[in-house]
Amino acid sequence: MSETYMRVPAPGPKRTVYTEAMEIFHRAADLIGLNPRVRLELEEPDYEHIFHVTVKLKDRLVPVTGADAAPFADLPVTQVRNPEGLEQLADGKIILNGRALLGSDVAIRRGHLRLPSGGVYQLVPGEAQRFKAYRVQHNQARGPYKGGIRYHREVSLDLFKALAAEMTWKTAIAEVPFGGGKGGIQLDPRQYGREELEAITLRYMYKLKSLVGPNIDIPAPDVGTNGEIMALMLRQFSDGERERHAQRGVVTGKDVRIGGSEGRVKATGRGVVFCVEDFYAERGETLKGKTFIVQGFGNVGSHAAEILCSMGAKLLAVNDADGTIFSGDGIDASALMAYTTDSKNLKRSVAGYPGAQKIEKADFWGVPCDFVIPAALGGEITSEVAEKLKTKLIAEGANGPTTPEADAILQKRGIEMIPDIIANAGGVTVSYYEWIQNKRMESWTEAEVNKKLEFAMKRNYRIIRDIARNSARKTEMHDGTRFLIGKEMSTRAAAMVLALKRIEAHYQLEGFSQ
Ligand code: NAD
Repeated sequence: MSETYMRVPAPGPKRTVYTEAMEIFHRAADLIGLNPRVRLELEEPDYEHIFHVTVKLKDRLVPVTGADAAPFADLPVTQVRNPEGLEQLADGKIILNGRALLGSDVAIRRGHLRLPSGGVYQLVPGEAQRFKAYRVQHNQARGPYKGGIRYHREVSLDLFKALAAEMTWKTAIAEVPFGGGKGGIQLDPRQYGREELEAITLRYMYKLKSLVGPNIDIPAPDVGTNGEIMALMLRQFSDGERERHAQRGVVTGKDVRIGGSEGRVKATGRGVVFCVEDFYAERGETLKGKTFIVQGFGNVGSHAAEILCSMGAKLLAVNDADGTIFSGDGIDASALMAYTTDSKNLKRSVAGYPGAQKIEKADFWGVPCDFVIPAALGGEITSEVAEKLKTKLIAEGANGPTTPEADAILQKRGIEMIPDIIANAGGVTVSYYEWIQNKRMESWTEAEVNKKLEFAMKRNYRIIRDIARNSARKTEMHDGTRFLIGKEMSTRAAAMVLALKRIEAHYQLEGFSQ
């Protein structure tokens, strides 16, 4: 009897975010004839951790409208003695912090009350909730695992595997002595109060503690997290330790007052700008007068836009999760940043910005411009978008913004690409500077950091372009001669070739332990 009768047939390969992200890895691995065992090592992560964190949520006031609110229209208004105890969330709910209602004149009927704004709210007691949490440690051939922490509704093991692998490539391209990791929690941070997010973060690090460390795995901010979250992770990791101050390097992206690096907050956006600047410099052009559009106006998008505007480029349109704006005269990125970070702008959105007009997301991608910076989430530049773009260059601020199909279309259309693993490597590069400063108990100036960052970004981007064109140059900044493979390829494949050659060297020279 043939063996096939004895086994359940293997399921066909399923296409996922991870397999899609790994297509370029396989293409580059084929191109350079990557050692088969190294390929197996890199094809799947070293470790995939999935766990849960539980937290007791706070009491909430949930808005009630229409017919549900009518029976409470005659309720006397509740005068809250300490309005600071009420924390307004982006979804309209209000968290009751501390003892917000204690000592107030409270009028409650069947669990409902009315606030001075006139709105009727249902009082929902806080309950314990469970959140799914992740940390994927992809590879550590070149150094400790390194990568961000994402708080977002749409996360999965598959996504974190893709993002962790990207970090392995990125740290190799940036020439920093780290491997790749990524993790986070499945939640929408805008639906939780400050103290709730603090509790969730502390609990997350409580469970993560045995898996991370300054020389083991070093998290950083990503979508939905920031320096405040990093500070909490640092405290939870180092609390009660004998050599607490030697542990500062367990996370990067910290506030400069507690061991963060000058220039880190803007580093990813600045790195994108260095690449775009070098792209034009090679053509004898500058950024002055160049037009661009940005998707995502968070950390990466807003800083990149602000720096570009300060160099004379013109921002025409911005799209984010809650809206799209356009101005043919150019949008003032600093003013827009002030608008999105205003405490009254609960969604932190560009929507409603008075200095521009509202347009549809579908029209955003069709705005004619010199270059586009996707700086939101992955998979946004689809085939349809790729056909629609009226631009000459894409600089990928986000991780994985372009699908493989869209990538092929862009290549056919002759639209140039600065791929994510080099374009947004500025963040991890300055994270490395932060980590060194922590180890040495030093603190560098922003000018020093930016100068080093510029050198690192442009040097590695130049090597990638040399690989892509199969033409080596040797300049003061770089030496592209060692990485050429004898044929031309896309910039994306070239970036991956550089990463794989640098990683493979470790396996070739150090060998395998077993
Ligand atoms: P952020 O949370 O600060 O900002 C994200 C932005 O994307 C927000 O403006 C949000 O409105 C927008 N957005 C979310 N969903 C959207 C949607 N469906 N359509 C349009 N816009 C949407 O995040 P960030 O730190 O700026 O990260 C942005 C991207 O850059 C991510 O892909 C991240 O992985 C990547 N990245 C960040 C860093 C870093 O240092 N922060 C480093 C490397 C790569």
